[in-house]
Amino acid sequence: MNISDGELMEGILERGGYEIVRAPEDADVVLVNTCAIREHAETRVLGRVSQLNGLKRERPDMVIGVTGCMAQRLGETLLDQAPYVDLVMGPDGYRGLPDTLGRLERASSSRSRPRGLADPDTGAIRVAPGGPGRIVERRSKRGPQLAVLQLDMDENYQGLEQRRAIGPSAWVPIQRGCDHRCTYCIVPYVRGGEKNRSAIDVLAEIRALAEQGVTEVTLLGQTVNSYVWNGVGFPALLRDVARVDGIRRVRFTSPHPNDVTEELVSVMADEPAVCEQLHLPAQAGNDRTLKRMLRRYTVESLLDKVDMVRTAVPDVALSTDIIVAFPGESDDEFRDTLELMRAVRFDEAYTYKYSARDGTPATRLPQADFVDPLEAQARLEQLIEVSRAIQSEINAGEVGRVEEVLVEGEGRDDGQIRGRTRRNKVVVFDGSRDRLGDYTHTLLKRTTGATFVGSEVGAKEPATVAV
Ligand code: SAM
Ligand code: SF4
Repeated sequence: MNISDGELMEGILERGGYEIVRAPEDADVVLVNTCAIREHAETRVLGRVSQLNGLKRERPDMVIGVTGCMAQRLGETLLDQAPYVDLVMGPDGYRGLPDTLGRLERASSSRSRPRGLADPDTGAIRVAPGGPGRIVERRSKRGPQLAVLQLDMDENYQGLEQRRAIGPSAWVPIQRGCDHRCTYCIVPYVRGGEKNRSAIDVLAEIRALAEQGVTEVTLLGQTVNSYVWNGVGFPALLRDVARVDGIRRVRFTSPHPNDVTEELVSVMADEPAVCEQLHLPAQAGNDRTLKRMLRRYTVESLLDKVDMVRTAVPDVALSTDIIVAFPGESDDEFRDTLELMRAVRFDEAYTYKYSARDGTPATRLPQADFVDPLEAQARLEQLIEVSRAIQSEINAGEVGRVEEVLVEGEGRDDGQIRGRTRRNKVVVFDGSRDRLGDYTHTLLKRTTGATFVGSEVGAKEPATVAV
């Protein structure tokens, strides 16, 4: 979602007359797009902006902006923590980026203080109060600072075009925000409630992408399969996307297990373009923990979903997200999660230690319930060991298969290229970089555990994408 939001901001800025450059040294404005899911990600952002401050000392006119979920979460306090940051902007402020940057520029060139009522302690001037968020303008010794923090249920990102890198694959957000309230999760607080894009717009965008040579799309949303717009549900949209001329592969992420329905699974089974891959975020393998996480399903119902998907799409590759050491998780309950991993045998698992996020309900659980950090680390390591062993076994069993691969880029070694199978497995094989966007077939010769080394077999299909 953040890669996609980065492309969105680039599109908005380019249409606003900005030129996009890759190196901060070449830029007048540097935006650091952020995630608030875990504390670790936020700590890294603070390190990054402090590095950028080194550049700013040489070029005081440079604007440093922090955008995205961490910006929304920390708001003005980020301006206190990192006083060299000029702009803090949450996800619903992107449409106004060129105007906001213009406003900063005008404020820094004018000696007048912005109009409004100044807070005597901070100097902050609230210029547009209202709603759960707001716009705050202040003037520090270094110049003006802006925090754009409104969450806007009417901001549906309609009409905003992403600036996508040329290539065969595109991310297409179809939904923003989330209506769930999983007790560990900050997303609903920093991205607001669920907002779905018009299906007409989504399809028009994908047709246009296909005309430009894109052959693979990934539909994005926090609970992407709860999508509904004017009576069009996710399965219907997925079917229509899969039938767009020129689109050969469709993926979607992240689905919520509760919205994995028979209708969805039958579209996955029937539509050749929908890839044999499903991300099914389990989070835990114990009912008491799932209940306290407010996931609204049980282990049994999750296993039923797995059976349903595997019956309809027998070769499907499944991935998951797991959080260990949720407050109150006992040793036995953690072992249930390991049991779930062994029972389902996910092809891939994204594993996290619980990270307390201010304002989320789980932080209000009794302090005594919080799992000791060393124990949490030990659980994470055990989970990684189990999930990697399963992944290696599954992949070793796939050696010898011939799989269709879409070439996505270069491999690590000279003369190697990297592609992905329909089941979302990475394969590297010999080839030249001009093959980006080609579909070809490779024999999976060996696996490193997570990825495959392959060799091309049979006819090569040239790319339709201009590269
Ligand atoms: N909406 C998706 C779902 O329901 O599965 C997940 C989106 S969330 C942005 C991505 C993943 O981050 C979650 O599936 C969860 O495993 C992890 N996550 C979210 N909050 C977390 C927290 N406080 N601590 C650790 N991991 C967290
Ligand atoms: Fe967070 Fe739960 Fe919404 Fe996923 S479904 S984004 S985990 S609140």
